[in-house]
Amino acid sequence: MAREPTTLLLRRARDAGVSISRTPKGALALEIPPDAETLAATLREREQHLTALFDWRQAPVTQPAPCLLCQRPAMLRDPADHLPAHKVCVDELLHNPAL
Ligand SMILES: [Zn+2]
Repeated sequence: MAREPTTLLLRRARDAGVSISRTPKGALALEIPPDAETLAATLREREQHLTALFDWRQAPVTQPAPCLLCQRPAMLRDPADHLPAHKVCVDELLHNPAL
């Protein structure tokens, strides 16, 4: 089975009520509801990829392709997997306290 793109994993986590942020020292901080433990294991395995989504300075820019989150054309590739995504779409998932 192909690995789930990090941006879609992030959205699935938010839909399950997981809160994702970074500590002041840059470590990933996860708040996981008690009923989301299976998802929690996946999130911990992918911690480096999730952390990468906080820093877009090295994100590749190339030809437009549908953003994995909103389907509109995106020239940016996400810093975790280098798949099409808008920074604003990822930021909405990372920084909105409640969806
Ligand atoms: Zn988008």
